[in-house]
Amino acid sequence: MKANTKTKTSGKNGSKGSGSALNELFVEELKDIFDAEKQLVKALPKMAKAATSDKLQGAFTEHLEQTKGHVQRLEKVFQSLDMPARGKHCMAMEGLVSEGKEIMEDDLDDTVRDAALIGAAQKVEHYEIASYGTLIAHARHLGHDEAIELLQETLDEEKQTDENLTELAESEVNVEAEAEGEDEAEEDEEGEEDEDAGEE
Ligand code: FE
Ligand code: FE
Repeated sequence: MKANTKTKTSGKNGSKGSGSALNELFVEELKDIFDAEKQLVKALPKMAKAATSDKLQGAFTEHLEQTKGHVQRLEKVFQSLDMPARGKHCMAMEGLVSEGKEIMEDDLDDTVRDAALIGAAQKVEHYEIASYGTLIAHARHLGHDEAIELLQETLDEEKQTDENLTELAESEVNVEAEAEGEDEAEEDEEGEEDEDAGEE
């Protein structure tokens, strides 16, 4: 990911190392994802509770445990930089989580809600994948080797989670959600046929 072109400055501030502008950006990004992961630790149990499919519940519960690990790994990243672990409110995650809440509050059929929850969860995973990808790219430039390894471990888990959710959606949840729609469509069609019959 080449997201750092604009932050490259020449001269003293552009030099590599802990005082550089890129390093400041890296630390800001770390604070953002640290807060985002903590928001997720709170949101995932609610998503698991709202899920109907046992497998989806299991996927959310499993990822909750992983997410707690992501928080701990980020604490280690801060430690490796000799910095206190601090978060800065992540607006993007707040938005993604509140979209998830909307789905839970909506009056949906169980399987349709599951399909929507998977979509919401995947948006979260993609935000994390983009964030960790950027962090790793910046850590490479900065030579933060320990951070690279820790961030890569988490990135791999986020990608795996995203793939698992796709698999679950395609093999089960979307199929059932579609069947739910078909049942209703059939009922509607029958109703329409009756109307037609009456007209003739
Ligand atoms: Fe995570
Ligand atoms: Fe995640």
